[in-house]
Amino acid sequence: MKKSYAVIGLGRFGGSICKELSREGKEVLALDSDEDKVNEFKEIASDAVIADATDEAALKELGFRNIDHVIVAIGDNIHASILTTLILKELGIKRLTVKAQNDYHEKVLNKIGADEIVHPERDMGKRIAHSIISSNVLDYLELSDEYSVVEIKAGEKMAERTLQDLDIRAKYGCNVVAIKRGKEINVSPMATEEIEFNDILIVIGADKDISRFEKDLVIDDE
Ligand code: ATP
Repeated sequence: MKKSYAVIGLGRFGGSICKELSREGKEVLALDSDEDKVNEFKEIASDAVIADATDEAALKELGFRNIDHVIVAIGDNIHASILTTLILKELGIKRLTVKAQNDYHEKVLNKIGADEIVHPERDMGKRIAHSIISSNVLDYLELSDEYSVVEIKAGEKMAERTLQDLDIRAKYGCNVVAIKRGKEINVSPMATEEIEFNDILIVIGADKDISRFEKDLVIDDE
């Protein structure tokens, strides 16, 4: 059977999830307490309804029990976001993704059993900060509180040197898991692999180790 989705809260974040899922041909129920927002999504989502997501009876009546994956994208009203998550959890929704507004909000959502918690502003802020520090940092993806994956363009400091020579694993505790060269991707490169200028390295490691690695080998001298 086709998987069904619901997006609660049609602000910029929830709205763009709803648009993208619909564009991909998915069945999406869009819900917001604001009539104007709902009208905006009438032609986009499979169904768009005005409702207060903290109203358990309304969610039951809308058949939320049968929805496979619900995305709660209520922003500023943390109280409403938590209450909605609790109700959906009690309804037995299989998968719940919730947008957190701050760290305390995230802690509460964790405790009440949200399956995935996203923090788009914080995560995007981190990614952009890293690319501001060095234009050679192309992307930065947080894996946990302490570990990340970075995509780095090899500059002068790394070009024409082998992984062995740079000794990235021993010196920085980071692992180069792949090297992209044009369209080619070398997964698990050998220690003897020589890096070329503008190669893209995918590096995984603890944040503190990645910072040292970036400082020594990625950031051009200030
Ligand atoms: P974004 O940054 O994604 O634009 P935001 O973080 O500023 O959004 P809000 O605008 O506060 O978030 O909320 C997102 C949407 O959630 C709004 O359209 C709002 O009407 C809706 N919303 C808030 N509370 C409820 C509720 N109890 N039930 C249904 N929708 C709600």
